[in-house]
Amino acid sequence: MIPLRRPEADDDLLSQCADRTKRIRKLGATSKAAQSQWSAGTVEKDGIRALLLRMAPGVERCMYCLNSTGTDIDHFEPKSRRPLRTFCWHNHLLACSRCNSNYKRTEYPCDDFGQCLLIDPSVDDPFDHLMLLPASGTFKAKTRKGRETLRVFGLNDRFELVSGRQDAYVRCCDVLIGWHRCVVDGDSGGAERRVHALHREPFADVLRAIEDMARLPHASLLLGSDELATALEAWSTTSRGTVPEGRLLTTVPPSRTETSAALPSRTDG
Ligand SMILES: [Zn+2]
Repeated sequence: MIPLRRPEADDDLLSQCADRTKRIRKLGATSKAAQSQWSAGTVEKDGIRALLLRMAPGVERCMYCLNSTGTDIDHFEPKSRRPLRTFCWHNHLLACSRCNSNYKRTEYPCDDFGQCLLIDPSVDDPFDHLMLLPASGTFKAKTRKGRETLRVFGLNDRFELVSGRQDAYVRCCDVLIGWHRCVVDGDSGGAERRVHALHREPFADVLRAIEDMARLPHASLLLGSDELATALEAWSTTSRGTVPEGRLLTTVPPSRTETSAALPSRTDG
């Protein structure tokens, strides 16, 4: 996981969501009422999905595993637990069906004070709770919240995620070195293609872990390569490879967002 910036919802969407919440309350604020309103709220879900696609990392990746395409609107605090938060914009994240339906489901572990023990990447910096060892593709928990998040999502237990992070580490290192060679050679097209490739990679947390390693003392020893350490130094001093046209590279281009927002909704969670 990486930290995500949640965009503001517009007044129309907030008002539509507030109306749905009123209906849930009128129906007794039960889990059943939440589910029925959620099923009926096609317009609201389309608006929520369009916003989530804007904030999703890479190419509309799941906000939990950062690998698969995010297909489901996940309720971070489950509808069954808090029906009145069903249409709360701050309770929605984009998840793949595997993370949503096979792992998280209705889990919402809390501590003795009722504080949630899952990382919400739109609120928390996941790296405050997890350390990613990119060469091994695994996480180490730094806090109880990190430990619970690893358990609930199976982030260290799913072969496709661990091996995927290992592969992403190799690709990121190679592309970073290639990007820096393009910069040195004045090949701006080649450099920009590599910037996009890095930001569209699955497992955006691998790149973040590599960037963090580069800031540590003896970075070239840790990274195992002077060339990679030099490339990373340039990467950090050029705002992660220079963002073209001021666009956030962790978001998808507007045309892609609009196309995806027009697709039929698939929601759960
Ligand atoms: Zn996922």
